[in-house]
Amino acid sequence: MPLRFHSLDSDRVVVSNLVGEHLVLARAEFDEVVSAGTPSPETLSTMRARHMIRLPDETLPVELLAMKLRTQKRRLADMTSLHMFVVTLRCEHTCRYCQVSRQGTERGEYDMSQDTAEAALRHVFASPSPQLKIEFQGGESLLNFELIRWIVERAEEINELERRDLAFVIATNLALIDDEMLDFCEAHRIVLSTSLDGPEDLHDHNRRRPGQDSWQRAVDGIERVRDRLGTDYVSALMTTTEESLERPEAIIDSYVDLGLTGIFLRPISPYGFALRLRGGGQYDAKRWLEFYKRGLAHIIELNRAGTPITEIYAAIIAKKMFSNNDPAYVDLTSPAGIGIGGIVYNYDGSIYASDEGRMLAESDDQTFKLGTVDDSWTDIMSSNRLLSPLWESYTLSSPGCDQCAFEPWCGSDPTFHHATMGDFAGHKTFSAFCTRNMGIFTHLVELADSDPYARDLLWTWGQR
Ligand code: SF4
Repeated sequence: MPLRFHSLDSDRVVVSNLVGEHLVLARAEFDEVVSAGTPSPETLSTMRARHMIRLPDETLPVELLAMKLRTQKRRLADMTSLHMFVVTLRCEHTCRYCQVSRQGTERGEYDMSQDTAEAALRHVFASPSPQLKIEFQGGESLLNFELIRWIVERAEEINELERRDLAFVIATNLALIDDEMLDFCEAHRIVLSTSLDGPEDLHDHNRRRPGQDSWQRAVDGIERVRDRLGTDYVSALMTTTEESLERPEAIIDSYVDLGLTGIFLRPISPYGFALRLRGGGQYDAKRWLEFYKRGLAHIIELNRAGTPITEIYAAIIAKKMFSNNDPAYVDLTSPAGIGIGGIVYNYDGSIYASDEGRMLAESDDQTFKLGTVDDSWTDIMSSNRLLSPLWESYTLSSPGCDQCAFEPWCGSDPTFHHATMGDFAGHKTFSAFCTRNMGIFTHLVELADSDPYARDLLWTWGQR
């Protein structure tokens, strides 16, 4: 059966099948399998169960493997569930790593208009997806709260006929949240997603605002949302800057202290305004991997000692490692999630294939601009501007990925590769995307193979 492999070290090899079921074998045993075709009875049985080997004349394993592959890819028919509305570019923060050209709070011309929002909503409901999530972004999205209110009510009105599974998220720094906004979020079950970079000094160093009180306002906001809407209605995201690299434990502890049960250890994005300013520091993928591994080790020890906290990226990969449910995380899908996983409506009516594509446009690169809200949904989705990068993002036919044992867990990021290497597929040997993901995949396999507690923890994350 089709299988690929990767050497973990001189003694161990990880073997995977087309859908990402995997097995770690001793090298001598692996050599027996591939050269002589005579595995031990125990290995033969395990590899047959994982659709890696079939006996002559057996057809059922091929049919089962094909069924699993079809199940994994079935989400493709429900294209574009995430619709991001950039309701304003205005912001009262001046973050060091800001990826958009944030505008001063008085610059009303950088707000989305109601007409643009109405046209964008036509696109939202033209998508065939039974699940629709509308995410409000900025700038600071709450600076245009009146438009958020209008869009939510209008979308709900349209949905009385459409009957989709409709959800809303507001991405906000929470500095400006007030009781009226909380009342509205409570009434419409709106989730709030905020930024929290770790301890107060680090967060305020990265995220500047008048009064230098960004951390305090974010923390107060998290508690207010949690008290009013419940713990599931607020989440936080961190961005790793140069200053974060030596402090993974302190960052994670700050989340635990706030009662947050998940943290997403994210590298800085190489796009837009941040790239021009280089304000957040430009560390390489290897340094970020060291940070990530240290952070994950701390998270495992916290769990082992009875404090539950999940590293969200590892949990997404664990779902691929230990189940057949593709979590459809846009950066780890094949073909890529641009346009068909999520799409962006900018404040001025431009439509971008991804948020990163919009950020790139801040550096005058409009490669991922698909059109405007005045174009039809069909024209947007069938334009070569979307189809070309999608075509090149299919990992099974991408040079390097086609041979990679981790291909079923991985994905592709045409925006990242275009921004950093000048083409959609990228050269994987030199790709920071590949270095980061390959490093994480091998680390998770090694952890699961060497530490039964870590394996159980990853397995548990993978079942959620
Ligand atoms: S990007 Fe790298 S890790 Fe991912 S499938 Fe391609 S070669 Fe493998």
